[in-house]
Amino acid sequence: MSEPIQRIHKRTLTGFSPTEILSIDAAIPLKCREIWKRYGANEFSDVDGFESQFVKHVETTLARSIYNCDNLAAYQATSNSIRDKLIVHWNKTQHLHTAKDVKRIYYLSLEFLMGRALDNALINLEIRDLAATAVDELGFRLEDILEVEPDAALGNGGLGRLAACFIDSLSTGNYPGWGYGLRYQYGIFSQKIVDGYQAEAPDYWLRFSNPWELPRLEIQIPVDFYGYTTTVKDPQTGKSKKQWNGGEQILAVAYDFPIPGYGTSNVNNLRMWSSKPTTEFDFQKFNEGDYQDSLAQQQRAESITAVLYPNDNFYKGKELRLKQQYFWVAASLHDIVRRFIKTKRPWDQFPDQVAIQLNDTHPTLAVVELQRILTDLQGLEWDVAWSIVQRTFGYTNHTVMAEALEKWPVDLFGTLLPRHLEIVYDINLAFLQMVEKKFPNDRGLLSSVSVIEESQPKNIRMANLAIIGSHRVNGVAELHSQLIKQTIFSDFVKVYGSDKFTNVTNGITPRRWLRQANPGLAALIASKLGGYGYLNDLNKLKGLEQFVEDPGFRAEWAAIKTANKTKLAALIASTTGVTVNPNSLFDVQVKRIHEYKRQQLNIFGVIWRYLQLKATPKAERTTKFVPKVSIFGGKAAPGYYTAKTIIKLVNSVGSVVNSDPEIGDLLKVVFIPDYNVSKAEVICPGSDLSEHISTAGTEASGTSNMKFVLNGGLIIGTVDGANVEITREVGEDNIFLFGNLAEDVEDLRHEHHMGRSHIPDSLVQVFDAISSGQFGTPDEFQSLLDGVRFHGDHYLVSDDFESYLEAQKLVDEEFRKKEDWVRKSIISVANMGFFSSDRCIEEYAENIWNIEPLEEKV
Ligand SMILES: *Cc1c(COP(=O)(O)O)cnc(C)c1O
Repeated sequence: MSEPIQRIHKRTLTGFSPTEILSIDAAIPLKCREIWKRYGANEFSDVDGFESQFVKHVETTLARSIYNCDNLAAYQATSNSIRDKLIVHWNKTQHLHTAKDVKRIYYLSLEFLMGRALDNALINLEIRDLAATAVDELGFRLEDILEVEPDAALGNGGLGRLAACFIDSLSTGNYPGWGYGLRYQYGIFSQKIVDGYQAEAPDYWLRFSNPWELPRLEIQIPVDFYGYTTTVKDPQTGKSKKQWNGGEQILAVAYDFPIPGYGTSNVNNLRMWSSKPTTEFDFQKFNEGDYQDSLAQQQRAESITAVLYPNDNFYKGKELRLKQQYFWVAASLHDIVRRFIKTKRPWDQFPDQVAIQLNDTHPTLAVVELQRILTDLQGLEWDVAWSIVQRTFGYTNHTVMAEALEKWPVDLFGTLLPRHLEIVYDINLAFLQMVEKKFPNDRGLLSSVSVIEESQPKNIRMANLAIIGSHRVNGVAELHSQLIKQTIFSDFVKVYGSDKFTNVTNGITPRRWLRQANPGLAALIASKLGGYGYLNDLNKLKGLEQFVEDPGFRAEWAAIKTANKTKLAALIASTTGVTVNPNSLFDVQVKRIHEYKRQQLNIFGVIWRYLQLKATPKAERTTKFVPKVSIFGGKAAPGYYTAKTIIKLVNSVGSVVNSDPEIGDLLKVVFIPDYNVSKAEVICPGSDLSEHISTAGTEASGTSNMKFVLNGGLIIGTVDGANVEITREVGEDNIFLFGNLAEDVEDLRHEHHMGRSHIPDSLVQVFDAISSGQFGTPDEFQSLLDGVRFHGDHYLVSDDFESYLEAQKLVDEEFRKKEDWVRKSIISVANMGFFSSDRCIEEYAENIWNIEPLEEKV
């Protein structure tokens, strides 16, 4: 006999430990359990089933009529139908993880640059064809429906996109893993180009209801700020302990984004926090007649998660940013700790159940917060707590550049988080005592590894705190991981030994960056490799090598590239008004605009090419130069003057070159506005050549280099970041490398500072052309030229310019040999297996997280 259904109303399932869930199973009414088990079977599995779901959602969820159904409604009805499927799998996955009581990985990232969700869900659930047929029968085109979805652009660039690829791979690899982030109301600004200048417009991506998020309005976690600390006596132990009396409280509300894996029914969770005021308004103030002020306070609470900070690889110490960080970290840890407490395990097993990865130093406060929870709130001894903390965290470093390293002024930190500041000092004291014991009287060492920078004003170095609080520190490409050990963290290698430091080279998900972005190429590959299995075993691409000498295969390969270039040409026409010829060489540089990424080197090279073209007699031009389209794209941080100047220069050069009747198709220069994930999905497949030309030693890894090569493009690049390993995999003959090496950068910079700069004649000619006003008012570009000529040329543009031009010359020669170029393209793709983010996740799981995959058996 089953129990009456009321039984389960008394205690919700969330109150049970994993073992209790199994034993309580019997207490749940049989009827209820049967319905639950059958529930998954109600999912649609054919075209008819999908169509009825679609119509149901139009009529009921959207409260519209099929007689009044536009593409927006069709997008929402389609998404809701798919979402229903995901939720069933999501529930089963979460139930399984809880019941099996497995260790979970929590990936803390302040950015998740997800892009669009619908196409990705259709692909991962392997129902794209079904959905395309169904919406067609209902009178829609899937392509149009997909275009309605706004990008979830909750990130700046590579770091945020990496987090997005990683959660896709966590789900695909059946790893029990959650992402934690912030649900910004405004993602990265949308970029307009007005008169050649960047203009920023707000990205209000939640304008229409978002079918991909599940609001968990019942999950509301209070987060404190400000206030003061007191010492209180524990009535039980009689010991004195610290207590934080917060001054301002704000609620964190959870929004869950289900993340489907590919070729599995595993669906993981991405939990994003949104801030809400704790009270509707301040009654005291209301009664005093200060209604305005009580409302203002409410608005302040909501402002915490209002907007993503738009800086990439650059630190800016704004209080609201620190508030965002603590808000997110406190809510996430509260959630993680609550889940652990339910297992009723002793605290020393916390690191056996929980791994937390810090994506850059942004979530480093989690180290301090966990120590506070364990000591102040749970009453653990300091050392016991600290050992748990260290075994729990791993830290991923993303840069060696000083201007990007996070530091917080001690005063600002202590005002916002007074108890945390005390804990930071205690952590640092214990650490420095350990160092002093091991290296007596080494003051230099102590001051360099200290969490506190003894400057005026004093700063907290977040990277030092992250290293001290973690058991593993990793860089994101071989070269970068070597460099952090030799430069910024060399003193920590001295203290801890080098085993604490490791490498996990970045990767990208082939589901989005091949199957979704380039369906034509993905299908051709599938036809040769016996289906789409290679999408979750990317090393299988190696099998393509055997077809390199098949002329029919090469022709198909080339035709797909041309089709993708035609699509890119259409995007260029619609966004810039410039018509380009798809038979030209498409030379692309799209990424955040930054001096270290050296878009200025690229545009100086373009100007040189233009000058050379003009100086060549007309009859000789077509034999000397391959027709080329130089394609730029990327956002500049709104306060980054030099980056914005580079954008203006690109557009100014474009308007001169593109309207020069002598030049025609031989050279076009375009800047595609508002580069984002969905544009990248069109741009990457349409490139012949892409530029990854950072000053050696500055780009930690790069991931768009991987996206371009996976889509059959070749690279011109410096010996930097993951370019090194791409070269190792695809072979030196299939990449155009140039420039000085990382090991020489320091000496070259020194030469510049000593006034021993040499600007090659080619670059002088380029500068003269700019200064003469050939590309508009030279004044506005002056600072760009002066940076190279008079201010030490920090990014070594003058040192690498000639080498860059030579590499470009080689590109022209090779591009003329059409068949050889296609061979290079095929061989490159065949050797890109290493760069799947699935491989990254396996490495993290094995070497850092110590977690195992767990497959749901449906
Ligand atoms: C992949 C990606 C990036 C990272 O590009 P890098 O060239 O590696 O800096 C930035 N933005 C978007 C939209 C991307 O898809």
